[in-house]
Amino acid sequence: MKRGLLIILSGPSGVGKGTVRKELFKDDSLNLAYSISMTTRIPRPKEVEGVDYFFVSVNEFEEKIKNGELLEYAKFVGNYYGTPQEYVDQLLDEGKNVLLEIEVQGALQVIDKRRDALTIFLVPPSLKELEKRIRGRRTEEEAVVQERLSKATKEMATKDEYKYVVCNDNVKSAADKIANIIRENL
Ligand code: 5GP
Repeated sequence: MKRGLLIILSGPSGVGKGTVRKELFKDDSLNLAYSISMTTRIPRPKEVEGVDYFFVSVNEFEEKIKNGELLEYAKFVGNYYGTPQEYVDQLLDEGKNVLLEIEVQGALQVIDKRRDALTIFLVPPSLKELEKRIRGRRTEEEAVVQERLSKATKEMATKDEYKYVVCNDNVKSAADKIANIIRENL
């Protein structure tokens, strides 16, 4: 069986990676599987264990790092986030096209390790629009919003490391563009 394609969808916090990813997964013809990440962040309302994330303690996460079980990981606004490696490789071996929706520090690690990965960076139409989206989520305190915003500006500077840059001006059209990119690379 042909091994699947490893796809990295990254971009600054609040750009809408999650929404675009959900839109992409409506298209069964792309044969996508989502890599569920591990995090030490507290679940948000409506988030489900084993669907949105695997929620673990700092000790458990650090144990995974020590044992080399993560394809990549990063500390983002005070919490760990990482990709369990074995699960990703298992899905790729099954011929699935595996999508990682991750922040930039982790994405840069995968770009280094897996040169054949299809890497896509999602950008907002403007930084003003990004701020509006982060505030619109209304789940975080001002200090966290400020931290995410200052981080976003730095994150934007890494976009040239990716094979493709797509603007999320509209969820449907961004997802369509990404779907076409995936098809071209299969
Ligand atoms: P949130 O707390 O909003 O769910 O996620 C914060 C950031 O962490 C987002 O940019 C999200 O894409 C990223 N993220 C989620 N899972 C992973 C992961 O496994 N690794 C890395 N490096 N980032 C992740």
